Amino acid sequence: MSAVVIAVLLAILIKSAGEITLLSLSLARVRTLRRGPIPPQARECFADEDAFRKAMDYSAAKTRDGLLGELWTGALAIIMVLGGAAALHGVMASMFGSGGVWKEALAAIVFFMTLGLLEAPISLMSTFGTETRFGFNRTNPGLWVIDQLKGLAVGVTLAFALLTPCAWFLQKLPGTWWMFAWIAFVLFRFLAAGLLSVVLLPLFQKLTPLEDGPLKQGLLELARKADFPASAILVMDGSRRSAHANAFFAGFGRMRRIVLFDTLVAQLSREELEAVLAHEIGHWKRGHILKGMVVSTLVALPLFGLAGWISARPDLAVAFGYGIAPDATHTPFGALLPLLALALAPVLYWLSPLANGISRKHEFEADAYAAGLTGGPDALVRALTKLYSANSSNPLPHPAYALFHHSHPSLPERKAALTTTR
Ligand SMILES: [Zn+2]
Repeated sequence: MSAVVIAVLLAILIKSAGEITLLSLSLARVRTLRRGPIPPQARECFADEDAFRKAMDYSAAKTRDGLLGELWTGALAIIMVLGGAAALHGVMASMFGSGGVWKEALAAIVFFMTLGLLEAPISLMSTFGTETRFGFNRTNPGLWVIDQLKGLAVGVTLAFALLTPCAWFLQKLPGTWWMFAWIAFVLFRFLAAGLLSVVLLPLFQKLTPLEDGPLKQGLLELARKADFPASAILVMDGSRRSAHANAFFAGFGRMRRIVLFDTLVAQLSREELEAVLAHEIGHWKRGHILKGMVVSTLVALPLFGLAGWISARPDLAVAFGYGIAPDATHTPFGALLPLLALALAPVLYWLSPLANGISRKHEFEADAYAAGLTGGPDALVRALTKLYSANSSNPLPHPAYALFHHSHPSLPERKAALTTTR
């Protein structure tokens, strides 16, 4: 076995060991909290002891799902590195021949589709096991299958649109292809974000304009006060699939729409919904959305550079079992992308505390903005408390686990920040 294969296997094992350690720490903490009396910081987050115990049970069940999922995906990654990915590429080549641009794009897509299919049992187990047991799941097997098929169709279409030009650049400009591929990626990224609410979201969710009345008036008034351009306020039928609640923006500029989950509208008062909207406007006012996209495209540049370097070393793909002609000048795209994904995923995992740290900072900023816009933190605190309780979120996560997995600060942290900046 070559050194590069051993290095990738080690990276996968170290990542899995890290993740299993975090999940075990989290599970131990949840079990301790579950046994003892409700801690003072958690008391304010739940209506009663039963709600707290339910949240702890839910958190423990999700963590156990996470452990199983990690074992499963870790094993899959190892199988793919030890020849699974190469075998898939071989099957594609024997079916369609090799060398063509779209054939190479297809080979890469088939790799990711196969991984997705093999990971489906984990998602099924979470939706129809834990989520159902705790009363959050509202979807049914029929709707779930339709959602998966639609997701697959959209995913394959988008992947073809992005990957075919990348495969073409690799074939025509083997030395500098990665720079052009990166430019294509940046354009695609911004285009996809713009199309999200207009084209993609309605494929999966039913969006209806918020009905006229004091709520809509209040929200539009608030948007005007914040000088926030929005073309519409839409309600999404999230309750068809899950009882969890959320709100977000989609689209850019004049196409921007405010999307509220129907579950959110049902749970919160008008004042609380305004506070949630003010928080979302805060993200926009502070430039978080654009900053996030710019940072992610900049971070992607060295990764594309790495792809360029690997593409010039076909011997690396051969080490992973790919059947590549000895005189080949570059690794074919259908082999390159799976290799990159397998090698980078366990390395990028260690950057998640950084990404979560930035996101948490943004959440505090948006909270502070919302408190300023709505004349104090009270409505936002009430809204967050209701959502926390309704979602059975864990208010006291293990700090190491939160570092790697929580993009949002915990409710006690957000409350503390909101009330000290008052
Ligand atoms: Zn936020």
